[in-house]
Amino acid sequence: MSASSLLPADLQLFQRGWLSSNNVLCLGEQPALIDTGHDKHAELTLHLVQTALLGGPPLHTVAHTHLHSDHCGGTALLQQAYPGAHTLVAASSWTTVQHWDLQRLSYVLTGQHCRRFAAHGVLQPGSVVRLGNYDWEVHATAGHDSDAVMLFEPRLRLLLAGDALWQSQLSIVFDELPRFDRDGFAGFEATLAQIERLQPQVVVPGHGAAFGEGEGAAVTAAIASARKRIALFRAQPEQHARYGAKALIKYHLLDVEHMTLEAFHQWLAGAPVFAELHAALRGGISLEAWLEDILDELERKDAIWRRDGEIGDSPTVSRQRL
Ligand SMILES: [Zn+2]
Repeated sequence: MSASSLLPADLQLFQRGWLSSNNVLCLGEQPALIDTGHDKHAELTLHLVQTALLGGPPLHTVAHTHLHSDHCGGTALLQQAYPGAHTLVAASSWTTVQHWDLQRLSYVLTGQHCRRFAAHGVLQPGSVVRLGNYDWEVHATAGHDSDAVMLFEPRLRLLLAGDALWQSQLSIVFDELPRFDRDGFAGFEATLAQIERLQPQVVVPGHGAAFGEGEGAAVTAAIASARKRIALFRAQPEQHARYGAKALIKYHLLDVEHMTLEAFHQWLAGAPVFAELHAALRGGISLEAWLEDILDELERKDAIWRRDGEIGDSPTVSRQRL
């Protein structure tokens, strides 16, 4: 079964890359878009939506699984293009987004950026929201982001998982950072158990193709693989820290493409997430030496390059292979 045939014709998946999350366009009398990609690709996101809605009603709703910069970077531009559109965020993010509280949004922490937008309503876990032609259950998640929600359509048994479940990788467990003072691995496991209870036939992840082949067997396999990865990270938290740092560095270089090494090291020093990930090592190697070792590994794997005082992204190695 091809990935596109997993979804009904009135749900259009814009499968994006790693810097931009996937977007799901729910067609109907009141079209809705779920997640809007990265700021760098905002014009392309708008173009995809405008093309798909050509000749029909305008965009009615913009909803978000969560507010990481790869999931809501196109929202401000969509609001400009569709001034009547109603923007929804997870209920726990309402105050944060209305005040654009940079300490609570993840952008200062990670050294990322996102164009400011305002919300008009909330996605309340435990409630149902009408998006396009379907009624979606809103479910809370934890582990990757405790302010993230998943959307589940029970008749289609279709889950829009955001970054709570990918097919063959685990997203960064941000809840493990010391600032949150939570058991992020336990939170992630609870979210996987919740997905298991929902018994989705098809999952649209935040990144990568939709999956659900074999009457949902692909979903069972993805959950098993995520659990294995969490168990490994729980046993070796330094491996999770290293994976997180590699993914965040690659993500930044996908955004800027290249920059001077001097500016890059200023960026590294200015993003508190790296020191917070490094805390999982509990000593042994300094933050600077640890990051240098990680940059060496990324360069060896040809995921990044450094030469003539510059550093840049190497498109030959995707984020999936970090
Ligand atoms: Zn995320």
